[in-house]
Amino acid sequence: MYIKHTLNKRLSTFKGMCFPYKKKSSTTFRYEAVVGVGGNIGDVKRRFNHLFYELKTYARVELLETSLILKNPPFGFKTQDDFFNSIIVLKTNMQAHTFLNYLLRVEKKFGRRRSFANAPRTLDLDIIFFDSKIINTKKLTVPHPFWSKRESVVIPLSSLNR
Ligand code: ATP
Ligand code: CA
Ligand code: CA
Repeated sequence: MYIKHTLNKRLSTFKGMCFPYKKKSSTTFRYEAVVGVGGNIGDVKRRFNHLFYELKTYARVELLETSLILKNPPFGFKTQDDFFNSIIVLKTNMQAHTFLNYLLRVEKKFGRRRSFANAPRTLDLDIIFFDSKIINTKKLTVPHPFWSKRESVVIPLSSLNR
């Protein structure tokens, strides 16, 4: 169950049980990660709820907060369905590359297949920030290079209750 709010012709937001969400206290896990979540195949909002419980029950991460969900048009490859995007903030003791590999495994578990750049996808998990770290390796760029240019990141991020 989600409550829809239309922002304009292009954008709408959805609020439900798990998005937005905020936990009251937090553990001593070392790093805080801000994760961008997206998808545009099938029932994405339902998948986001499953993802919420996947993360909530995984011992190596502590889910702190989620944003509302933003429905917004695709960029790059434009003849595909609108995207649903959200932000998840969590804590973990995993190092950044280990955490990325975990996210890639979760994407797979949720049916992600890689085809071409900006292709439709069931679930996309991007590391937007990882603590205040700056990382530039072949596998990982943090902060995410385009985060500030995408309304799919900026609008959910600015809705966070922090
Ligand atoms: P974009 O990065 O423009 O949002 P995308 O999310 O569609 O594109 P993917 O196909 O999901 O791109 O990911 C390709 C690779 O990007 C991943 O396998 C990963 O190694 C790399 N990558 C680099 N930086 C990051 C990051 N901050 N978060 C997630 N993946 C990253
Ligand atoms: Ca992405
Ligand atoms: Ca990605």
